[in-house]
Amino acid sequence: MNENRSIQDVGWNFDNSYARLPHVLFSPLNPTPVRAPELVVLNDRLAAALGLNADALRTVERVEELAGNGLPEGALPIAQAYAGHQFGGFTMLGDGRAILLGEQITPQGERLDVQLKGPGRTPYSRGGDGRAALGPMLREYIISEAMHGLGIPTTRSLAVVSTGQPVIRETHLPGAILTRIASSHIRVGTFQFAARWGAPEDLRALADYTLQRHYSDALQADNRYLALLQGVIRRQAQLIAKWMLVGFIHGVMNTDNMTLSGETIDYGPCAFMDAYDPGTVFSSIDSRGRYAYGNQPPIAAWNLARLAEALLPLLDEHEDRAIQLAEDALGAFAEQYRSFRLAGMRAKLGLFNEEQEDESLVEELLSEMQKSGADYTNTFRALTMGIGASETPSPSPALPNTADFHAWREKWQARLARQAAAPEEVRRLMQRSNPAIIARNHRVEEALEAAEQQGDFSVLHRLLAVLEDPYAYSTEQEEFAILPEPSSCRYRTYCGT
Ligand code: AMP
Ligand code: MG
Repeated sequence: MNENRSIQDVGWNFDNSYARLPHVLFSPLNPTPVRAPELVVLNDRLAAALGLNADALRTVERVEELAGNGLPEGALPIAQAYAGHQFGGFTMLGDGRAILLGEQITPQGERLDVQLKGPGRTPYSRGGDGRAALGPMLREYIISEAMHGLGIPTTRSLAVVSTGQPVIRETHLPGAILTRIASSHIRVGTFQFAARWGAPEDLRALADYTLQRHYSDALQADNRYLALLQGVIRRQAQLIAKWMLVGFIHGVMNTDNMTLSGETIDYGPCAFMDAYDPGTVFSSIDSRGRYAYGNQPPIAAWNLARLAEALLPLLDEHEDRAIQLAEDALGAFAEQYRSFRLAGMRAKLGLFNEEQEDESLVEELLSEMQKSGADYTNTFRALTMGIGASETPSPSPALPNTADFHAWREKWQARLARQAAAPEEVRRLMQRSNPAIIARNHRVEEALEAAEQQGDFSVLHRLLAVLEDPYAYSTEQEEFAILPEPSSCRYRTYCGT
């Protein structure tokens, strides 16, 4: 294929609206070239959705671009400035190892950020090398695509390219660059940065830009900045409810890792919970459990309060009024979260209508699961598969075999009988609300090990294939529902990525 043809064929269609914002918000710079780029994995379906030709992306010239050796046509690379509360402490951060190439305008007219993660140092790198290791970039690829398969708003992964250069962590690791696709990379920390280091016009420009890009309906509101805050609160309440419903633990919910768009971002020390326990923490650096599974809703509320603080000057010219508006908006989070989560739990239990006692029915099940150490995903999977089974099914080994659980099950079955839905409908609702499989830690590790140590990507591809539709309940998925050996249960994730 000749050079011109492949440029035409790839289908990049960049705009660079973020780079037209006030200059304090970013630094223009080029990626630092790498020695020997090689394509490791490419997301064909996502490429197609972006209007990109996957075959063209696989050519040597285009792989060079995904590694930062040269730029795709129309790209205008920048590192974005942001700040953030990390484990509660406020710091100046910014893209220390990421470069935004621009926004791909898709054939459907969507505007999506294209970002390289790991392309070398930037003005915000502080002591870091600006690079990323292959394992963590493949991990982000797997988990973000698993989240997408689960129907949870998330940044996506288009490609991982290995660089042919080692990165130095505790040991030498193979280096890699991830191409990340996002609705935007505007974070709570971006607003904290603008409020702290920008002029008042800069904060306003960022808020107007965010409204245009993510909350255009709110542009008509009497107080558009209040409508922005309310919109973000609502989307985050919905997002966190979705995480909780599938047992996802983000692991590092710093304010710089929370988006205004309502997408999950920054897959570092994240993981899915096996046995149900609200205290579950995987991250090796989260020694005090700040970001434990059960803490995620209050932490999200805390982060949103930091966003509200940053927005105060825009909410009202009188500070006391602005504070009142912010407090009222933040006050809605808890109830919104509760109602999104309860609606999701009703669906997980096959309930179409609402009854007063549904919440206690849910809590009783969870508390029984916690007492008996039941696996979160497999409990709901077994309940789903039990619907419509014979009158006296042999008890699934995934379900607790305790008197309390049996009593709960009878109560639930009586509750199901009080609604009009037929078992087949209940089963369908439960099947699309309870994933048959999640990206279990031992399976993710197995895929990464084969890729990193043997250069064998077949394990990774099989895992990605079954995670594409986790609600399929296919026979290929059955072995992925098998729990890890007890020895690998003390799983830890590491942030040193
Ligand atoms: P993260 O934990 O990935 O959310 O990153 C937190 C901050 O540290 C962000 O500002 C990153 O850009 C920065 N950072 C993480 N790793 C590196 C690295 N290897 N080099 C430079 N900056 C980094
Ligand atoms: Mg981050």
